Amino acid sequence: MLRLKEKDKPIVQKLLSSGCCARCVLRFCCVSVQAAYRKPPQETLEELRAFVCGDTEKNGEPREAPEGSAESHDVASHDATVSEPHGAPPNKRVKLEPDGSDAPEEEDAAAVVEPKDEEPSVCVACLGILQELCSPAEAAKISERVKAEKYEFDSLVLSVSLPAQLCVREHSCWLHVKKELREKSMAVDKDDVVQVKEAFKWTMQSLVAKELGGVAVVTRSPFEVGVEFTHPETDADCHFLATACGDCFRPTKNKQSVFTRMAVVKALEKISDAVFLKHYASPPAPPKSSCSPQNIQCLHTCVFIAGRYNKFSRSLPQTPWVIDGERRMESSVEELIAAPVLSSFRADGFNFSSSGREDVDVRTLGNGRPFAMELLNPHRSKLSNVDMKQLQETINNSSDKIRVRDLQIVSREAMSRMKEGEEDKTKSYTALVWTQKPIGSQDIAFIDDIKDLTLDQKTPLRVLHRRALAVRQRVVHRMNARFLDPHHFLLQLQTQAGTYIKEFVHGDFGRTKPNMCVLLDTHTDILELDVESVDVDWPPSIPE
Ligand code: ZN
Repeated sequence: MLRLKEKDKPIVQKLLSSGCCARCVLRFCCVSVQAAYRKPPQETLEELRAFVCGDTEKNGEPREAPEGSAESHDVASHDATVSEPHGAPPNKRVKLEPDGSDAPEEEDAAAVVEPKDEEPSVCVACLGILQELCSPAEAAKISERVKAEKYEFDSLVLSVSLPAQLCVREHSCWLHVKKELREKSMAVDKDDVVQVKEAFKWTMQSLVAKELGGVAVVTRSPFEVGVEFTHPETDADCHFLATACGDCFRPTKNKQSVFTRMAVVKALEKISDAVFLKHYASPPAPPKSSCSPQNIQCLHTCVFIAGRYNKFSRSLPQTPWVIDGERRMESSVEELIAAPVLSSFRADGFNFSSSGREDVDVRTLGNGRPFAMELLNPHRSKLSNVDMKQLQETINNSSDKIRVRDLQIVSREAMSRMKEGEEDKTKSYTALVWTQKPIGSQDIAFIDDIKDLTLDQKTPLRVLHRRALAVRQRVVHRMNARFLDPHHFLLQLQTQAGTYIKEFVHGDFGRTKPNMCVLLDTHTDILELDVESVDVDWPPSIPE
C-alpha cells in the first residue's frame, strides 16, 4: 500500500527517472505514514513502478505527454484513486523479467522507470542513506556497538547527523518537483516533504529496537545513540552558496568547515530559485558512491550525586594541587571520592563542586562539607539505596584521610540548592591560636562576650592571584576562647560563610580589621584550623 494519489503520479515518475530511491519518492510525495518506510525499499520500488506503469497503460497515455493533457486527466477521472497497486500484474512481470523486451506492451513502462538496473544506483537525494544504510544489517551494527559499550538503559534515542550538502540536494530535488507541482497547480509546502532524518529514524528505530531485544527506541531518552554520515565525494556541492550567499558563511572559531548544516539551511532559505538553478543542477547529478557511516557514538546524560565529606588530613588539598605544571600533593579530596564513584557508575569523567572549600592544612570535621559531582557519560545511571550505601563504604574504606556521608543521587536542579544563599549560611571553626605576649585565662575571657563583630576584609594576600581586590564585610557571630597555656588558646568561632579565619587571627598586615592582634594587643598567629560544621541543609541527611 503506497498511499499515493493519482495526482502524485507525475511526481513519482519524475523522481524515479531523476534517480531518487523509493523512500525518497515517498518523502517528496509527503507520505507521512511510518510503516510505508519500513517496507523493504525494493518492494516499494516495484510498487512505485507498478503505480506509474499501471496507469500509464490504463490511460494509454505516453509518459512524455504534453503538459496540458496530463493536467486535464489528473483532475478529471482519477482524483480519489489511492495507493492500491492497481498495476500489480504488470509490475510483477517487470520484476521477474527485468529485461522483458519480449513483452512489448510493457516496453513503454520499462522505459519510463528504467527497471533494468538490478543493482539500484545511489540515490541522488539521500546519497544512499535511505537505501542500504537504512537496513537490518546497519541496525545490527548499531546494536553491536551499543552492546559492546555495556550501557545500562531502559530506552534510547537514535540521533542522526547528515552531511550538509544533503540539504542542497534536497533543495534541488524540491525545485525539480515544484516545477511539476506548479504546472499542475498543486499546492504543496516544502515543509510537508518528509525529511531524510525522519524517514531514517522511522525505518531504523524499529529495526534497532528489535536487534536490542525490544528496548524502547523513543524520541526522548537520557541515552543517545548517534550515527553520522559523511560523503566526501559531494562536499563541494555546498561551495557555490558561499559566493551566492556570502553573509551566511562567516568563519567560526571551533568549526572545521564554514559549511555547517545550519549555515547551509539558512543560505538555502535566502537564495532565489533562479540563482540556485544557475549554479546547481536540478535534479542533482548522480553520485558514484554512498555515504560513509562514521563511528557510532553512545552518550548517556550526566548523573548527579551529592553528599558530605570530612577531611582529616592537614596535607590534603580539596582539588589536585598543581603549580607550574608540577603536582604538589599526591592526592586530593575530590580524587579520593571520585575514583570509586567513577568505577561504580562507569563514567568517563566528572565535575566536582562543594559548598565552599578549605585550605590544604585545614581539616573539615563535624557533619562535613556538602559536595556534588556531575558524572559525565555514565554507563550505569541507577544505583539502589543499598548500592549507594555500598559505594559510600568503598570510598570510606579506601582512605583514612576522608570520610563521606549522605551519599545520594540528586537532580541537576537540586544541585543549585547547594550554592544558593551560600553567603548567608554560617560556618563553625576551631582555631589553635599562638600569642607572642604571655596570657592568662582572664586575658581572653572578654572574647566570649563579643557578638556579631563586623569585619572589613581586604582580599587576603594569599588569594589575591585568583580573587578580585575588594573589601568584603563579614560577620563573626560568636566566639569562645579556651585557655591552653600562656602562649596558646583554642578559639571557637561561628561566622558568616566566606569569612577568612586565618586573616582574622593574624590580621594579614592590617588588611583585616579588626583582628585578633588588635583585640589582644599582641602579635597572634593561627597554628591549626578545623571546620567544625558547614550549616547548609543540603543534601538531605540519610540515617546511618
Ligand atoms: Zn533516497
